[in-house]
Amino acid sequence: MTAQKQQTAQPAPDNHPAGFGDDADLNRVAERYAVRVTTAVYDNIAKTAPDDPVALQYLPDARELSETPDELPDPIGDHSHSPTPGIVHRYPDRVLLMPVSRCAVYCRYCFRREKVGKGAGLLEPAQLAAALDYIRDNKNIWEVILSGGDPLILSPRRLAAILEELDKIGHVGVIRIHSRVPIADPDRINDALCAVLSNTQKPVYIAVHINHAQELTAAVETALRHLHQAGCTLLSQSVLLKGVNNDATVLETLFRRLVSLRVRPYYLHHPDKAPGTAHFRLPLAEGQQIMRELRGRLSGLAQPVYMLDIPGGHGKIPLTPCYLSAEDDGIYQVSDPSGHTHFYQD
Ligand SMILES: *Cc1c(COP(=O)(O)O)cnc(C)c1O
Ligand code: SF4
Repeated sequence: MTAQKQQTAQPAPDNHPAGFGDDADLNRVAERYAVRVTTAVYDNIAKTAPDDPVALQYLPDARELSETPDELPDPIGDHSHSPTPGIVHRYPDRVLLMPVSRCAVYCRYCFRREKVGKGAGLLEPAQLAAALDYIRDNKNIWEVILSGGDPLILSPRRLAAILEELDKIGHVGVIRIHSRVPIADPDRINDALCAVLSNTQKPVYIAVHINHAQELTAAVETALRHLHQAGCTLLSQSVLLKGVNNDATVLETLFRRLVSLRVRPYYLHHPDKAPGTAHFRLPLAEGQQIMRELRGRLSGLAQPVYMLDIPGGHGKIPLTPCYLSAEDDGIYQVSDPSGHTHFYQD
């Protein structure tokens, strides 16, 4: 796969940490889960800060060896909703199409960590053809979401082949691509890739995965600008992670910068119960408190929806903090962003 060869992870220079923990533990982590960083990511890690928010997202950590009983190998139930390899169909109007199970980098909290970076990588041609047939045969499918793995590690030629097929399917109205590449490997957003993206008739939405403003380097800003110039509508998705971004000021900075870069914050995900990720998880109530703080001080344009993917594959639901409680007979108590109480009558 040429997409994989171009950028290999740089070994950490001797005087820099390769991860959090001793070598023996880090080797065990790497045997269990895929480990990979790009040069762009590695260069962006503040080597002197032990709690660097970029390092924590990507460098292996001995704490990944501890699993808790509530963790699940397939936390959001992809498998039970997969009618054919490469397709996850949980909601009637949209499907995930996963042409590749590899990524440019491996996020330590990944909800698909039991799958990504392992096995064959690319979907076999016959499997890809069957997945496209499934989409063609299901007239309810209005949106196709390329996910994975990371679809933007595909060569422009392979990506073009998929987008051309989707473009021909009448009932498909929208193509969405979920990707870490613009953030983790921005040089891959080159002219050839942008030409492919701008060639589609159907609108292409790109949801970039980003968790901290430190990830918005000059090269990342350029990549986002090129995607926008290629006609893509840009969204972001983030994961709320203990020690990385569980702070209203950190998120406010991230979301403001994203909006200034023409990226509309879409979802803030509560972390999934993927194995060995307990050190990233935090209480739902803490996430709701952060969202409450943001509501008062940040433009609505810059507010994502805080989401929980219900463990076991029951779907995503918003965890919006509740501002409303029913009294009786159509009278409600509502609290304003400063926490003061008011009444509303139907
Ligand atoms: C998250 C997800 C989607 C997309 O959900 P949206 O709320 O539309 O972003 C679609 N299918 C599956 C299986 C998912 O897990
Ligand atoms: S890019 Fe996405 S799929 Fe890949 S490791 Fe990160 S979270 Fe998982």
